[in-house]
Amino acid sequence: MSHTPDVFKGYNAKQLLDASYLPWETIEEDKTVAVRHHECLDTGAADHKERLYITNKGGTFLFHCFNCGAKGVYTPKELPYGLIHKVIDTGSEDTTAYNYGKVHKDFCNAYDNKDDDIPLWLLEHDFGKEEVRFFNIAYDKRGIYLPVFDDVISHLKGIQIRNFSGKPKYSTYMMTRDTPKGMHLRQTEMFVPQPPLFITEDILSAYKLYSAGADVFALMGTSGLPSGLPNERVVLWLDDDFAGHKGALELYKNLKVVYPSLTAVFMQEPKTMPIEELKNIVTVRGS
Ligand SMILES: [Zn+2]
Repeated sequence: MSHTPDVFKGYNAKQLLDASYLPWETIEEDKTVAVRHHECLDTGAADHKERLYITNKGGTFLFHCFNCGAKGVYTPKELPYGLIHKVIDTGSEDTTAYNYGKVHKDFCNAYDNKDDDIPLWLLEHDFGKEEVRFFNIAYDKRGIYLPVFDDVISHLKGIQIRNFSGKPKYSTYMMTRDTPKGMHLRQTEMFVPQPPLFITEDILSAYKLYSAGADVFALMGTSGLPSGLPNERVVLWLDDDFAGHKGALELYKNLKVVYPSLTAVFMQEPKTMPIEELKNIVTVRGS
């Protein structure tokens, strides 16, 4: 009466792992653990002998229960997923990590269920599969999950969700209550000369200018001045309603003090422009 199941994959595989052994993600590479399969599929023969084997093969988790025959494979999605877990684990006793508890489940589900249908909003801004993967963007019914990086792509400091419902348009979750908003991304390849720093309002614009070769700082609003960044050329690129934007001129004045070489760009948002055009602008400004 044994009903050998299909191979578990994706979310189903993760559920089985979660239910059987936490924290399975901490199993070291090339190591195997044997645990009790609490939910053996063949209910007539419960597993009392730790016959569920879980192996980490280069970051992919393979499992096989020799009691009920359940087997499967699970590959956690890229970086932020693991980092979020780490934050939850270390931050659970830390009340300052307050936002992550709320967003944690949604976030993990969004990454687990990431399908091939890239939301229109991303496609409209030239974000295809490759870009989605590179910046670790995820999406679900609620919206689009934009990682907020700190200096380099491997440092996550928060997540901003661009909600589909539009109210509010963005929800922002920083690592702790005290983590300042704003995303800085620096080119890590050797550039001669040093690329210019572009300051934008939104994350997607910053992603895009970064792809075009610039260092970027996304204000995630119109305040929160970056300081102490070494770039010699700094370009402020706010949305094209700059002139009418209350406070934007103030920002320009303040940044001008921090960055004497500051220039300002007044045109459509970077995220709406073709990447080739941005490359030209970044090169011209930087030369
Ligand atoms: Zn089993």
